[in-house]
Amino acid sequence: MRERTTNSSVEAAYDDYLMPIWKSLNVPVERASGCTLEDFDGNEYLDVFSGISVTNVGHNNEAVVEAATEQLEEFVHGCSYVHPNRPVADLAETIAEVTPGDLQKSFFCNSGTEAVEGAIKLARKYTGSKEVISLEMGFHGRTLGSLALTGNRAYKQDMAPTINDVAHTAPPYAYRCPRCDGDTCGADCADALERVIGSHTSGDLAAVVVEPVMGEAGIVVPSEAWLKRVRDIAHDHGALLIADEVQTGYGRTGELFASEHFGVEPDILTQAKGIANGLPLGAFTAPAEIADAFGSGDHLSTFGGNPVACAAALATIEELQNGIIDNARENGEWLSAELATLESDYDVVGEARGLGLMQGIELVDPGTTGPQHVAPAPDKELAAAVGEHLREESNVVMGVGGYYKNVMRFQPPLTISQAQLGEAVDALRVALDDLT
Ligand code: PMP
Repeated sequence: MRERTTNSSVEAAYDDYLMPIWKSLNVPVERASGCTLEDFDGNEYLDVFSGISVTNVGHNNEAVVEAATEQLEEFVHGCSYVHPNRPVADLAETIAEVTPGDLQKSFFCNSGTEAVEGAIKLARKYTGSKEVISLEMGFHGRTLGSLALTGNRAYKQDMAPTINDVAHTAPPYAYRCPRCDGDTCGADCADALERVIGSHTSGDLAAVVVEPVMGEAGIVVPSEAWLKRVRDIAHDHGALLIADEVQTGYGRTGELFASEHFGVEPDILTQAKGIANGLPLGAFTAPAEIADAFGSGDHLSTFGGNPVACAAALATIEELQNGIIDNARENGEWLSAELATLESDYDVVGEARGLGLMQGIELVDPGTTGPQHVAPAPDKELAAAVGEHLREESNVVMGVGGYYKNVMRFQPPLTISQAQLGEAVDALRVALDDLT
């Protein structure tokens, strides 16, 4: 008889897996439902990180599981360009309907990084230009093209050379920005793009790629005007605006796409993570005029547009539209008010910020001077300790991240109730009381 699986037997078997376990966040999972994870030893956890912002309509959402299972029984795979199938066609049509403005034609791949790579190729093909600008501190993936756009040395160490002709501009990170007043990001941050184009490119600019709310940087929310200004500058230089909504898309910020908060229709929109609630799927979507720049064979993927993943995505979108986005918006506002009280109650909480159910608090060492000399120094040791305390003492799984690794990240399934969010906030208070 096979030995019973336990947390330690799973961890031991990871010796043969190439990637080490992320120790401070590690929770082995045997099964999950809604916002609850269960490990192999029978412990239950409240999940407020959704597998890094993926299971937006709840773990093992019944409608998604049913749609995927039905499709599994019908037809599992055939390259979507060799064997046209219903889920791919329906999903492309649905995305055309639910994305802003003229965004119409989608290409399907398997991950966020592939969506970004594909979007860059399309922008190059359409504009006939080569260079790309992204944000310092931004994250766009780990394959070599996306890695070049990712504005964080930590991910690039020992990996150069990546692709050429990439420059970076200032992120709208008001809390640590010497140009801003500390609350809102001024136009100057967006205008820095003009200077980067002037100083660091030859002018042959294909695209500016930004996350409308920066996830891995530490939930960095721009001012209302920022995205429009960035788009206008990009367009003035004949470049496309690519909104990387891999993390912000599919209801995370309280709208289906974060660009909608800022009244901006990007030229290309990248998606992944929440799109199929955990099945591997990525996409990029563009208006027909741009998308049609790709000729036959310019871009293909064996697994991209897998019918099972597409069926799951269709069910996910339906679930989101049946009240789950509203829940994200309403409970996001409630959470935001709760986190603001943490900011006033604890010196170590430098700033609470976010949009919808993408919220974070930045932990700092009060009284010290941090990077850019405008905010207290980030305290990444405290953030790691808080993450472990939450897991060990309160059975709450919360993200720890940010460019300075000092941000506690609330990115729960969007189905989460106020009571569950309250539980996580209470646990955070206990951790901060115990550790500071
Ligand atoms: N873009 C953004 C904005 C992301 O947050 C991520 C993942 N954290 C990616 C791209 C890469 O996605 P994936 O891990 O699916 O390749």
